[in-house]
Amino acid sequence: MQIWHARAVVRLCLLAVLSAGFAFSQDPTPVITVPNPPNTAAQQAKPYVILISLDGFRYDYPRRYGAPHLLQLGTKGASAPEGMLPSYPSLTFPNHISIVTGLYPEHHGIVGNTFWDPVREQTYVYTQPKSNSDGSWYSGTPLWVLAEEQGMRSACLFWPGSEAEIQGKRPSYYLRFDEKLDDQKRVDQVVEWLKLPPELRPHFITLYYSNVDHAGHNYGPDSDEVRAAVHHVDAMVGDLQAKVAALHLPVDFVVVADHGMVSVQGAPVTLADYADLSEFHTEGSLLYAKPDADVQEIYEEFLAHPDPRFKVYRRADVPPGLHFDTNPREGDPVIVPSGPFTLRGSLSSDGEPAKHRGAHGFNPRTMPEMKAIFFAAGPDVRPGVQLRPFENVNIYPFIAEILGLKAPAVDGTLEVLRPALKTSKRKK
Ligand SMILES: [Zn+2]
Repeated sequence: MQIWHARAVVRLCLLAVLSAGFAFSQDPTPVITVPNPPNTAAQQAKPYVILISLDGFRYDYPRRYGAPHLLQLGTKGASAPEGMLPSYPSLTFPNHISIVTGLYPEHHGIVGNTFWDPVREQTYVYTQPKSNSDGSWYSGTPLWVLAEEQGMRSACLFWPGSEAEIQGKRPSYYLRFDEKLDDQKRVDQVVEWLKLPPELRPHFITLYYSNVDHAGHNYGPDSDEVRAAVHHVDAMVGDLQAKVAALHLPVDFVVVADHGMVSVQGAPVTLADYADLSEFHTEGSLLYAKPDADVQEIYEEFLAHPDPRFKVYRRADVPPGLHFDTNPREGDPVIVPSGPFTLRGSLSSDGEPAKHRGAHGFNPRTMPEMKAIFFAAGPDVRPGVQLRPFENVNIYPFIAEILGLKAPAVDGTLEVLRPALKTSKRKK
């Protein structure tokens, strides 16, 4: 009897799990349509840009593992064979926002995936809708906002920040982030958007895949799993290109990554072992003084216990190339890792960090493994252009120029990617 009962319970649970799975497959993440005005006549005459982010796709993966569709984009258009430089810290949210705003993280405000704002007295947590959907965290004008402001429709198939209303604007079409959304469905949705009538059809579209980043964290950048993920997302890009080509629209592809990946070395470093952080609020390796804390004293305590795995600066003295020295969200003092080491404030506040084989977030100027891919091809891109490594804040004016949008002054400049534009687009 008891055995029968146990079996029945197992069967019932299994049924519940199965039906939940079924319900999910019946109810895919819906596209949210915003009642923005249709494309103006002038904007309907403009080309289209699909901006694709392949999270964690290191600059050397295409040649190392083979990514025929991406490499072909590079031949047909522009590429950066030695990589594109992420902004510091080379983390997912700061860099996706830098790519779409042209601003360094300390200027657009998302200085980490998770950070504390001492003025708001609130924590931004990239995975929580409460913060990532709240436009008041973001500075700068994302490309989709720039487009909508000028009467051009946009669509985001995922992008950090795309679920927030920023400057009173949202993309005309977007989805709530759901990493389980089928990869093929993402391609097909982008194609569907391009089949809309001209007045409703988005001209700026984002698309996002995290497969390569996940494989890199879990198995390390040298793994077969990363190789397989590279092949998979490359095939997605190839499929999208083929389906878009059949539409005979003037579409420019820009394929980027937010950062690269490196194998983690050694055990995590706990900063509280070097200085008394009891009067500090910590978020990962970011340190925020509580009212009674003496920042200079803690800084000197760190200096008295040097460790080759990290450097300590008062915020104002962080090397200027990192662009990480003006925003209170960066904390003070600022700890900069010198190699692929996991740093955490204290065990008690941050808990045990996930045991990853691969990591990122490090200085891309001193660690080439942090560099990301860049490919661009289409009717507005000059064929066969190979670019020297450049900072990702320069993508913004490049895309704005292709779309003929008036862009505000940002940290990036059009000069950097101007050589990749067709002559007709290279107006002074
Ligand atoms: Zn990652």
